[in-house]
Amino acid sequence: MSEEAAILWQDILDLVMGGRVSNLACPFCQKGQIQVTKLARTTRLECPSCRQFIEGAFQDSMETDSPDPLVITKEGQ
Ligand SMILES: [Zn+2]
Repeated sequence: MSEEAAILWQDILDLVMGGRVSNLACPFCQKGQIQVTKLARTTRLECPSCRQFIEGAFQDSMETDSPDPLVITKEGQ
């Protein structure tokens, strides 16, 4: 990932960390809405329009076992 991309993602991450998981306009293509997917220990942000994405354990200081409106992807169930 380029440094510029990391900076753009940081703005989105700040919003997500603040609890916002919808109406996240993609800073790359300006067309897509960033989709937030929480996995067991990682969070994935992806634009369905231009396919830019970032993935990582961004919430290591937060518990994720409470119900929330995030999109949960569970495979094999
Ligand atoms: Zn996009």
